[in-house]
Formats: sequence, C-alpha cells, structure tokens
Amino acid sequence: MPEIQVKSNKRIELIDITDIVNDLIVESEAKDGIALIFAKHTTVALIVNEYEPGLVSDIEFSLERLIPELDYKHDRIDNNADSHLRSILLQSSIVLPVTNSHLDLGTWQRVLLIELDGPRKRTVTIKLLGEKLKVFKGKNKI
Ligand code: ZN
Repeated sequence: MPEIQVKSNKRIELIDITDIVNDLIVESEAKDGIALIFAKHTTVALIVNEYEPGLVSDIEFSLERLIPELDYKHDRIDNNADSHLRSILLQSSIVLPVTNSHLDLGTWQRVLLIELDGPRKRTVTIKLLGEKLKVFKGKNKI
C-alpha cells in the first residue's frame, strides 16, 4: 500500500506534500485517473490551497481563532481537544485528478497536510485508480 511519512516540527504546521505525492504517482506508472490521499489521523487534515508564507501564517492564525484553547472535556484524558476540534472543520482525505502521471492541479494549487497536534510523525495513504503508462510490456510485446 503506497504511503508517505511526514514529520512535523510545530503544533500547527502546514506541510506541502505535492512533490512527494507526484513522485509516488510517477513511480506507480499511473498515467490518467484519480488519486485518493488520506491522512490516517484524528488531528491532521488535508487541503488544496496556495503555499504562500503569508497565507500559511493566516491559516494557522485563523484555525487558532476559530477554535481557541479552552477547557474542553477531552483535555482531561489527552490535552489536545483543540486539535481534534480544528480537524473536524477540515477533512482527512481528498480526491484529485491525475493527468500524465501528475496531480492535475491549478497554477497555485498545492496539496497541503495540516498538522494540528505536532510535532509528530504522520502517515498518509495514497490510492491510485487509472490507466497505466506501460500497458504493452512483457508478453504483450510482438
Ligand atoms: Zn486526543
């Protein structure tokens, strides 16, 4: 099962995983189809957006404002309720088109992992569905 490992360094952090996902698609020989990208965690999210330092800072600031650190019930056992609550505003998976062995994104679009309870090591699963580049090889060759 194709997976990528991501290491975060801050409590809230946006990490651009576009290139590593594209590398995996190229390696898989998938040409055209769809990619499902899924974060196997309850305090991580995935989004498609621009990876510009000012905007990255604005997103981190906005998440902290939308769900402030308060006295939540889950904090009695795990002390990260704000991270879980921030994650439910977002999503844990995204589905994107694959064209010519790459994610078919707009000019400014990047696949961003949002760490909400770092620093930690995270796992992201990639599932690819589609046509392969090398359909005529081995026995199919005349
Ligand atoms: Zn928790």
